[in-house]
Amino acid sequence: MRTPVIIGNWKMNLAPSEAKALLRELRELDLDQSVEKGVCVPAIDLLIAEDILKDSDIKFGAQNMYFEESGAYTGEISPTMLNDIKADYVILGHSERREYFKEDDELINKKVLSALEHDIIPILCVGETLEERESNKEEEKVRNQLEKDLKDVKDSDIEKVIIAYEPIWAIGTGKTASSDDADCMCKFIRNYIKKVYGEDYSEKIRIQYGGSMKPKNVKELLAKENIDGGLIGGASLKASDFEQLINYKK
Ligand code: PEP
Repeated sequence: MRTPVIIGNWKMNLAPSEAKALLRELRELDLDQSVEKGVCVPAIDLLIAEDILKDSDIKFGAQNMYFEESGAYTGEISPTMLNDIKADYVILGHSERREYFKEDDELINKKVLSALEHDIIPILCVGETLEERESNKEEEKVRNQLEKDLKDVKDSDIEKVIIAYEPIWAIGTGKTASSDDADCMCKFIRNYIKKVYGEDYSEKIRIQYGGSMKPKNVKELLAKENIDGGLIGGASLKASDFEQLINYKK
């Protein structure tokens, strides 16, 4: 049995004063304890998240990091910095980072390996564009990303990774993949893990869906066999939506 995991991705939203207010609201919610939950906040909000969430079961993480521990990398944050504030997660390979910041699979792979080495759970995002889906290339695209981004990840580490299947055409657009299509791609990812790492690990690894997930569609998506949770953008910015998402079983 895999523990469902629902994580908010705030993206570049909520300045420290706004972050404080939302985190305090989140801390007071009555949230289902059988669901693992967290928020990945802008770098400037990380210390605030550490402080406000310290006695709650809401975890937190970053939306990116560099793979080196320290040095002349202006503007970056490192895994040891995230360790210092006990961050649980780091989102890696989000399509916005791939597109706007030109992150390639080789760099993402270095970051995944570094996160694992530092005991930070990588939430690895993969997914296809609309054009790729329309030309039936979604599996080829995702297989390619998995091969490159997970290169050299050891058997003993693979089950720590969370993979987020995020069709790019569904992110922030209000368009959600149908639950059957999302499940089909999550199954494809699980089968890939089975082929490379074996059945045991493929049954343990958690695969999220991301792309306009909201209170209205969460139940249907998470009822699917291969969808173990969600990476949530827009709907993670309001406490009442976050509450309904986490409490989707009720
Ligand atoms: C995301 O940014 O990972 C995401 C899924 O965004 P949204 O929920 O807004 O589509």
